[in-house]
Amino acid sequence: MFKNKINNCVIIGSGPAGYSASIYAARADLNPIMFMGSMPGGQLTTTHYIDNYLGYPQGINGSQFMEFCKEQAKKFKVILIPKNVIQVELSDKKGGIHYIYYSKKEYIRSIGLIIATGSNPKLLGIDIKKEKELLGLGISFCATCDGFFHKGKDVAVVGGGDTALEEAIFLSKICNNVYLLVRKNYFKASKILQTIIFQKKNIKIFFCSHIVKFIGKQFLEGIKVFDSKNEKSYTILISGLFIAIGHVPNTKIFKNQIIMDNLGYISVQNGNTSTNKPGVFAAGDVQDPIYRQAIISAGTGCMAALDLDKYLNNIL
Ligand code: FAD
Repeated sequence: MFKNKINNCVIIGSGPAGYSASIYAARADLNPIMFMGSMPGGQLTTTHYIDNYLGYPQGINGSQFMEFCKEQAKKFKVILIPKNVIQVELSDKKGGIHYIYYSKKEYIRSIGLIIATGSNPKLLGIDIKKEKELLGLGISFCATCDGFFHKGKDVAVVGGGDTALEEAIFLSKICNNVYLLVRKNYFKASKILQTIIFQKKNIKIFFCSHIVKFIGKQFLEGIKVFDSKNEKSYTILISGLFIAIGHVPNTKIFKNQIIMDNLGYISVQNGNTSTNKPGVFAAGDVQDPIYRQAIISAGTGCMAALDLDKYLNNIL
C-alpha cells in the first residue's frame, strides 16, 4: 500500500504538466501517485475551446481534453488522489524522504516529488460572476490562446505591465483595433515595449481607465469604462477582452522550503526541472512566468519525470 511505504514519485497537480509527468513516470515504472487538488484537470477546464494544442485539427473543449489526459494516465495505472496537499516537509539530503501531507495527520512519503500546481490568472473582480460566465466567451487571459478568434475585430486589453503590452502588440497584428486600458496614468512596462506600443497605429491607449461593467449575455459584446481623470464613462464595443493584470503561482505550501523568484514562481535550474531540493522537480506554469501554455506545461512535465528517473537511478 503506497501510504505505508516509501514511494518513488508523488506528483502534486492534475493539469497538463501533472498528467504528462505521470504518464512518463508510470512508463518508467516509478508508480506515480498524483494529487489532483481542488481543480482537477487544472486551468484548461475553464476554457471551452483549445485551438492551438498539437494534434487536434478541429480544436477541442478544455474539459474534454483533460478527461483524455486522465484516461491515458489511468491506462498506465497512475494512482489518482482527489485531494489537496496542505503541507510538505522537504528533505535537504540527496536520496532523502519528502513528506507530503493531505490532512493534518495523513501523509505520503516519497523520494521523488514533482510540483505541478500551476498558477491562477488574476480576475478584475468588478463582477466576478459575470467575469467567470464570459470566460472563453469573449473574456480571456491569453492572447496567444484566443486572439485568433477575434481576427479582424475590435478587442481590448487591460493592464499596464509587460504582459499587457506584449498581448496588445500580439493582438494588433490580428485584430482591427486594440484598446489598451491602463488603470494608472503611466505604464509599468519596460521602455522598449512602450516605444513599440506608441508606434502601433491600431493600438489606442486609455490611461486612468477602469472597466466598470461587462456588456453581453451569451458572449461579451462590450465594456463600460470609467475615465477617472475626466470623470466620464463611456462604452466600447468589442468582441474580446484580454485581462493581463498578472498571475498568482500556487506555491504557498512550498514557501520557505523551495527557492522562488520575487513573484513566487519556483526557480528551476537552466535546462532542466530541478529545484534547490534534491529529488524535487517543478513543471508547468508553477515555474513558468513567461510562456504559460499547455503544450509547454506538458513538455516540462515530461522533463520532470525524466529528470526524476535519472535522479533515482543515481541514488538507488
Ligand atoms: P494548471 O493547469 O494550472 O493545473 C494546476 C493543478 O494543480 C490543478 O489540477 C490544481 O488542482 C492542482 N493544485 C494546485 N494546488 C494544489 C495543491 N495544494 N494540492 C494538490 N493539487 C494542487 N493554454 C494553451 O496552450 N492553449 C489554450 O487555448 C489555453 N487557453 C486557456 C484559457 C484559460 C481561460 C486559461 C486560464 C488558461 C489557458 N491556457 C491555454 C493556459 C493553460 O491552461 C496553462 O498553461 C496550463 O493549464 C498550465 O498547466 P499546469 O499543469 O502547469 O497547471
